[in-house]
Amino acid sequence: MATATLTIDLNAIIANWRALDAVSAGGTGAVVKADAYGLGASRVARALALVGVRHFFVASADEGADLRHALGPGLEINVFSGHMAGDTDMINDMALTPMINSLDQMVRHMESLPGHAFGIQLDSGMNRLGMEPAEWAALREIALAQNPTLIMSHLACADEPDHAMNAQQLNSFVEMTQGITAPRSLANTGGVLLGPAYHFDITRPGIGLYGGLPFTDAQPVVTLTLPVIQCRDLEAGETVGYGNIFTATRPSRIATLSAGYADGLIRAMGPNLQAYAGDTPCPLAGRISMDMIGVDITDLGEDPKSMEILGAHQGIEVLADAAGTIGYEILTSLGARYTRRYTGG
Ligand SMILES: *Cc1c(COP(=O)(O)O)cnc(C)c1O
Repeated sequence: MATATLTIDLNAIIANWRALDAVSAGGTGAVVKADAYGLGASRVARALALVGVRHFFVASADEGADLRHALGPGLEINVFSGHMAGDTDMINDMALTPMINSLDQMVRHMESLPGHAFGIQLDSGMNRLGMEPAEWAALREIALAQNPTLIMSHLACADEPDHAMNAQQLNSFVEMTQGITAPRSLANTGGVLLGPAYHFDITRPGIGLYGGLPFTDAQPVVTLTLPVIQCRDLEAGETVGYGNIFTATRPSRIATLSAGYADGLIRAMGPNLQAYAGDTPCPLAGRISMDMIGVDITDLGEDPKSMEILGAHQGIEVLADAAGTIGYEILTSLGARYTRRYTGG
């Protein structure tokens, strides 16, 4: 087989959701934006719906429409970007719930879809989306009279438990939602782990479901296996790949794997990664190319058919560290060329 295989363990995603749900004071939703962080929103959301998830969150109305096709009617699909110009028909036809972010969006929603469900997003200090305190104060009575389904805000520093921003945003959110009976939501994965004061009625974990930090107890979800295209012998002094950055210091055997930076295995990771033949790690040899990766298999003693570059031995956080980024970016960069295979669910 010529293409690499990305295996997604739906049971691990379910176990991660259940573990976060078990420590949540209220209900637990699931964030499946960006195609469930690259893992396939329809498969992931269907598996989660079967175990009782009722509140899903996406970034845009388009993502919401795709998710509605996968889930069918009934379950709540909340859209972080709210009600944008041009979204009205989709919000209506696909029964999406926009999180209203501003006075403009509020007016658009009430004029174009009176009586249609909506939530409110408040800005508690992140300064990215949502109404600021003054705007909210002016709109509050009108909005609450229309029975919003959710009042939410988002934490900027929840993955750093000791950061002063957490308590500051919590106070601001509590202040802005004083006396409100509508369901409230503040916590992403990091917020769930900050404790019950941050949970309110519904939590919104994303990365923790997919096995990423800050949920240190998460079960690993993804395994990436790359087929070996070719193996060759090198004499000492010969080089591998672009820029000749690898020079054999002994007679060596090199395997060429089928995947590269076009598939999200970015060049910067190279020197810090291993490829695994079963349980045996082998160092990469030479630069990661667009579609290929060289591996020094000299000490392996045999030619493997495929090698694992992401999985139980070497998780998304190892790849993230190797590239100087975060697990979120590793997952969402995993390319479209992989054959995605689902287990469990
Ligand atoms: C992405 C996102 C989440 C999920 O965050 P994680 O850190 O992945 O758990 C929750 N709420 C909002 C508004 C988001 O944009």
